[in-house]
This record gives sequence, structure tokens and C-alpha cells, in this order.
Amino acid sequence: MLDSVRTRLTLWHAAILSLLLLSFSAAVYAIFLRNFMDRADSVLRSASDATRSILARELSESGIDELAARDTVRSLKIPNHTIAIFDEHGEVLAESPPGVHEKFPLPPPGSLSVQDARIYTSDDPGDPGEQRRVVVSRVILPPADRTYFIVITRSLTPLLGELAADRFILLAAVPAIVLIAAAAAWFLTRRSLAPVLAMSRQAQRIGTQNTDERLPVANARDELGLLAATFNGLLSRLAAALEGQRRFMADASHELRTPISVVRTTAAVNLARTGRTEEEYRGALEIIESQSRRLSRMVEDMLNLARADSGSFTVRMRPFHLDEVLLETAQAAAVLAKEKEIRVEIGDLTEAPFSGDEDLLRQMVLNLLDNAVKYTPARGRIRVALERLNESWLIRVEDNGQGIPEEARPHIFDRFYRVEAQSKSVGAGLGLAIAQWIARLHGGMLELEHSGPDGSTFLATLPVNGS
Ligand code: ADP
Repeated sequence: MLDSVRTRLTLWHAAILSLLLLSFSAAVYAIFLRNFMDRADSVLRSASDATRSILARELSESGIDELAARDTVRSLKIPNHTIAIFDEHGEVLAESPPGVHEKFPLPPPGSLSVQDARIYTSDDPGDPGEQRRVVVSRVILPPADRTYFIVITRSLTPLLGELAADRFILLAAVPAIVLIAAAAAWFLTRRSLAPVLAMSRQAQRIGTQNTDERLPVANARDELGLLAATFNGLLSRLAAALEGQRRFMADASHELRTPISVVRTTAAVNLARTGRTEEEYRGALEIIESQSRRLSRMVEDMLNLARADSGSFTVRMRPFHLDEVLLETAQAAAVLAKEKEIRVEIGDLTEAPFSGDEDLLRQMVLNLLDNAVKYTPARGRIRVALERLNESWLIRVEDNGQGIPEEARPHIFDRFYRVEAQSKSVGAGLGLAIAQWIARLHGGMLELEHSGPDGSTFLATLPVNGS
């Protein structure tokens, strides 16, 4: 039950609200109580002051303590209040109702200073459960300037009754409000979390077979919409990666099928009949050998690309000279080009210290030269050049072959892409993809700078400081 976000949110909401309401109610109750007491005390003080003035007047008229006190008490009839007047020895002079001085006796007269009014709460000994507020004051009155004590009490029962009603209202309101708020929170969280449930249901339905499906986006501007959109972005990237892998697998098996079937057919045809000449066997083995070479090159390329994709390719960075690599590869290409009487020209090679993976960069240049040889007709010309432009090394491989058809140019760096008419059974369409990956791995890039009927130029740009 507590594993549900909805339950947890509702409980938290109710707990915090209860705490707030209880603190609020306690504060309100404390203020009420103080106000009530202040009001009660001010009435008591006024009554005490009135008693004092009447007693003073009566004393000035009669001059006899008992008579003045009695007349004072008689003239002051305040409901719910008791009055007792004592002389300076603590003897009661007059009181209302009779005997009240026994219930609320005078504190030791010595403990009260002149004009002092002491206020306190006391239980009523004659009425259990009843509480009274008591004010005791000491006054000195003319004409004899004698000391008198006035004790007035008032019942707190009506005030406490009012307070109890207020307390009940506050305490009853807290659970009621918390209940209503918890119900509202439960309902609101259900509504707010509904898109999350819809998303998770939809996410459960999405598998490798329906990668084009996406999560519902209820409101693109709120946080859940943002989450769904982010998730959909992730799904799109995963779907693209999955699609790329599928295509790679399909293309790879398609490409591998041709050399394998050539090998099988050649072997089968030669085995089908006995008594073949050595020349025939030799021819068959040559076919098998060249197809196997093609196969192993293809497998190696695919392995490199797979490693590049998974990020597990270990690059061996070390310092070397780019110009030397260019020279060596151009010389190797010249050997291949010789068959077609293609001339390999080497332009100005400035000294080019570089830090990178020498073997990979050699392969990059070799792939470009290999293509140049493949796609340049006999007696053509290939040119390799290296120059520095600002902070980059520019490697150019140029040929005067047939060029790349315009519609094919955006795709030549794609894996397994080949211009069918040109390269039937020549390559697997991985050479440029690998060359581009190598350039990028070194922080550079590879692009087709120019292509037309006069030939093609590939340009590799590498940062001078290495990758
Ligand atoms: P392949 O192994 O088929 O050569 P690449 O990835 O190296 O694969 O090249 C992709 C395609 O680009 C080739 O099939 C070819 O049609 C075209 N191409 C590459 N280099 C050249 C070039 N120098 N001249 C003409 N076409 C080229």
C-alpha cells in the first residue's frame, strides 16, 4: 500500500495539513484564553476600583468602618461576583454573600503592599468544579487614613464554558478538514498520475517489433509531458540504432553471401568431375583465394565498425609523421595501379608530425587510394597531396576517373552503400564509411570535395595537434 506514490502523497498531505491545523488551533485557543482572562481581569479591576471609591465616599459621610463597608457592599450588586471588605487587622467588615470571606480568605495582610492588586484563580471550596478569579487590593482611605482590604471574586464558569465550546469547534474542525483535504488529494493525485500510468502501460507494450510506437503526451508543456517527450526521444534514438543494426546485419549477410556462394560453386563445379587439369584446379583455387581475401577483408571491416559502434575500439595513439604514411601508401597504391597503367603522383609533402593511430590513418588513406585505383579507368592519373592550412592538415586524394553520380554523393559514406553500376562485385561499400570513422576518431573529417566527369577529390582534414 505504501509502495503507491498516490497513497504516500495523500498521507504526506494529510499529515502536514493536520500538523499545521493543530498548531494553528493551539495558537488560536491560546489567544482566546488570554483574551478571556484579560477581559475577566479588567472587569474585576473595575469592580475593585468602584468598591474603593464608594467605600471612600461612605467613609467620608459616616466615618464608621462597619457602616461604610456594609453600605458599600449593599450598593454594589454585581451578578456572579462576591465582595468582602476587611479592616487593617484582617477582620471582615462586610461581605456579599454572607460567609464568603471563609471561602476566599484574605492572604496575610503583611504580604500585600499599598495600592497593590493581586489577581489569581482559585477553586471554589463550596462548589466542586467551579473556578473563580480573585482580586485582592489594599487601600488607604481618608478621613482616618486607615488601611482596608477589598476581595472581589467572579465565577469563571461562563467563560470556561465558552472556551470549551470554542475548543470543541477547533478540535472537530481539524479532522473534518483533514479528511476532506485527504480525499481531494487522493482524487487529485489520481488525476495527476493518470498520464504516468498511461505511459507505463504504453511503454510495456513497446518491444523490438513495434519500435515506431511512442508514449502519449497529455500536455507537452508540463513536467510529465516533458518526461514523455524525453522518453520518446530516447525511444527514437534506440529505434534508429536498432534499425541501423538490423540494416547492418541484413546488408552484411547479403554482402557475405556473394563471395561465399562463389567459393562454394567453384569448389562444387571442380569436384563434380574428376580428371581435371592442374591449370583448371589452379584457376579454381585462385578464384577461391581472391574471394576468401575479399571475405576476410569484409569481416575485418565489419568487426572494426562494430567495435567503433560499441565504443570498445582501442586506439593506439602515438607520434608519427603523416607525410611518411602518405608516401608509403601512395607507393603501395602505385603497385596496384600499375596493372591498369594508372600514374600515381605525389604532390608536395611537407613534414607533418602528428599524434594518432598510425595503422588506422594508413588504412584511411589506403581506402581512398584503393577507391581511386578501382574507379579510375586504365591509363588514368591519381594524385596525393598534403598541406597545412592554419591548424589543420589537409590530405587530398584526387583521381581523374568517372566521378560519382550526383544522386549517389550524399550516400557514399553510408555503410554498404555502393553505386551498383560502377562497383559491381568490386567492394562491399564499407571503405568510405570506415575512412570517415577514422577521420572523426582523430577529431577531423572526411568529405567529397569535388566529383564530376573529370574525376573525384576526397579531402581529409585532421587537427595539427592530433586528436
Ligand atoms: P566500395 O567498397 O564499394 O568501394 P566505398 O565505401 O569505398 O565502397 O565506396 C562507396 C561507393 O562510392 C563506391 O561503390 C563507389 O561507387 C563510390 N566511390 C568511392 N570512391 C570513388 C572514386 N574515387 N571515384 C568514383 N566513385 C567512387
